[in-house]
Amino acid sequence: MKGNIMADESGEKRKSFDKSHFSQPADVLNIVLDHITQGMVVVGPDYRTLAFNRHFEAMFQLPHGTVELGVDFRDILKIWAATTGQDQQMLDYAIYQLDEPATFEFEFPQLINNEPRWCLLTHNPLPGKGFVRTFTDITKRKALEASLMKLSSEDPLTGLYNRRTILDSLEEEIKRGQRYKHPLSFLMMDIDHFKKINDQWGHPTGDEVLKSFAAACQSMMRDADKVGRFGGEEFAMILPETGMKDAEPVAERIRKITAEMEIHTKRSTAPIPVTVSVGVTTTADGDDAETVIARADEALYEAKNSGRNRVVCR
Ligand code: GH3
Ligand code: MG
Ligand code: MG
Repeated sequence: MKGNIMADESGEKRKSFDKSHFSQPADVLNIVLDHITQGMVVVGPDYRTLAFNRHFEAMFQLPHGTVELGVDFRDILKIWAATTGQDQQMLDYAIYQLDEPATFEFEFPQLINNEPRWCLLTHNPLPGKGFVRTFTDITKRKALEASLMKLSSEDPLTGLYNRRTILDSLEEEIKRGQRYKHPLSFLMMDIDHFKKINDQWGHPTGDEVLKSFAAACQSMMRDADKVGRFGGEEFAMILPETGMKDAEPVAERIRKITAEMEIHTKRSTAPIPVTVSVGVTTTADGDDAETVIARADEALYEAKNSGRNRVVCR
């Protein structure tokens, strides 16, 4: 690259162009760079900013005069960090990344005019030292990713995790528990005589019962716990770092608040009676997700057979 593609002969940053600028290939390049939707910067071996396009200058909304030719790019990064809500660790990492000898991509969140936005950086090292970087605003893509993630991991009716997510988490938590020799407890919960609730009060009321039960479970979870809808009127809860001694009272509280739930319907003056049966188990050596679920299922089966509205531990 000859000289500085973004500076004209007087060394001034060019803000606009007229047709006469097309006379040189470098001018065409300038026009292209200024009209692509990504920010672009070229930094030399001594960290000096050699070139940048209009979008780079605009997209970070840095104070006027921050982005200039010849400025040490590390100084730009310091102002960027202060302006876009980055902490010292992120700034240190950004400066460390400048010397990366290989091409890489990096996605990071930032605040632009106090609005959260995501940016994708691509780093392309130049022969010797220095680099060309491009920056793309990926806020829309990240929002789409988040909503797809939510859709694929949650149950739409209750907003709880779905079966797949609970199974994946259970496997992961069992492995983690075994590594650190910590027990994990698992609850299988099934609403009693739910078919009758549907038959007597209608399917929409059945749905209300499922949502209220889900909310009741969520209201008593700790941060590390996970609750999901396993299917139909069956729910599961993972309690990491929890032995049977602490899991049983959790199950008992869920049983109790379920029996105390007040779900009303137009067809009845009194609240609808709802109860739940719960099977509880705690991991032992050699357990995997399958054996844990099977044991919790057996405990649940026993709770059903011994009269429902109760907790059985295995
Ligand atoms: P048990 O006490 O033995 O658990 O009896 P139960 O009636 O709860 O169990 P059963 O498996 O016989 O019936 C479950 C019912 O749950 C049948 C099905 O129609 C209903 N169901 C499954 N998914 C939904 C849903 O999303 N909404 C509603 N309203 N009902 C559902
Ligand atoms: Mg049931
Ligand atoms: Mg069932």
